[in-house]
Amino acid sequence: MAGCVAQQEGEALLRRVPELDLVMGPQHANRLQDLLEDVFQGNQVVATEPVHIMEDITKPRRDSQVTAWVNVIYGCNERCTYCVVPGVRGLEQSRTPEAIRAEMEDLARQGYKEITLLGQNIDAYGRDLPGATAAGRHQNTLTDLLYFVHDVPGIERIRFATSHPRYFTERLIRACAELPKVCEHFHIPFQSGNNEILKAMGRGYSAEKYRRIIDKVRQYLPDASISADAIVAFPGETEAQFQDTLKLMEDICFDLTNTAAYSPRPGTPAAQWENQLPEEVKLDRLQRINHLVSHQAAERSLRYQDRIETILVEAANPKDPSQVMGRTRTNRLTFFRGKIADLQGKVVTVKVTEVRPFSLTGAVLELSERDAAAPALV
Ligand code: SF4
Repeated sequence: MAGCVAQQEGEALLRRVPELDLVMGPQHANRLQDLLEDVFQGNQVVATEPVHIMEDITKPRRDSQVTAWVNVIYGCNERCTYCVVPGVRGLEQSRTPEAIRAEMEDLARQGYKEITLLGQNIDAYGRDLPGATAAGRHQNTLTDLLYFVHDVPGIERIRFATSHPRYFTERLIRACAELPKVCEHFHIPFQSGNNEILKAMGRGYSAEKYRRIIDKVRQYLPDASISADAIVAFPGETEAQFQDTLKLMEDICFDLTNTAAYSPRPGTPAAQWENQLPEEVKLDRLQRINHLVSHQAAERSLRYQDRIETILVEAANPKDPSQVMGRTRTNRLTFFRGKIADLQGKVVTVKVTEVRPFSLTGAVLELSERDAAAPALV
């Protein structure tokens, strides 16, 4: 068992579920191989002790040979009432811009082309660091970090997640508009469209502020894709408050919204409240919001029809090896015919021929200039 709840419960979990082999907190993920070897020796392993972040545990998570995640800040100082993270992952600890850049340079040397900078609340990046770095070229905010790492040779695309509406700035949007490698995709959870629920969640912003942020993003980057997270059936949520969430979604029309029905997490304030909603209300609201999510994703996909998009090719399509798959800059998964051996890691210009709610199909027009000398296409 791995994750924040595993970290929080630790050995207590072994007593409750004695057949567990391993209980592991998120900060120990990079030790998984060692921990599993320990398990194979016949040991029951608990790896949940708090770790002070040091550079040797910041190895990037890699989900392909093309894209990599790089942690820039660990922990979270927020106190969202439903969330187990602050009690488990501890206070914010930012890595230095120099360490992040060095890691990106290393990844570029290994052939990675796209980096996603990661933090639970990435807009908090740098506020625990001293005011200026030794290089003295920048202050320490996420915006400054983007300017600092933007020109790492070999890295072609940069993304970041997860944004927090409480701290999201116009300066950051401007940087995204100015810096060509930063992709036009924002993941900004709103969680609820109702101010009373947002207050009960301890989120620290209003639905109006959230709307203003999205307006600003669209003012600078009209085609940006916007994804979000939402929680329905939070304790005490009325039907009218749930309707406010649907209304906010209808007004904004998201490219993708990750949804969840509220589920109590041990040791969090909201889990103790008595106004929990019945399971059937949770399920009903979840189904209704998910219907809207698919509808909006389909609507947002329509704009890609017949458009020319640049796709960074990541892998073969697991369902059809005659096709490769990659993403638009706006993060839409896109399939097209081609050989992965020739195309992996390359930026290919594609005309979109078919759109679906969550993915696209295209046909190759040409490789980018950089890849023009590449082998012939299928
Ligand atoms: S900002 Fe995110 S990680 Fe931090 S407490 Fe809130 S939900 Fe949890």
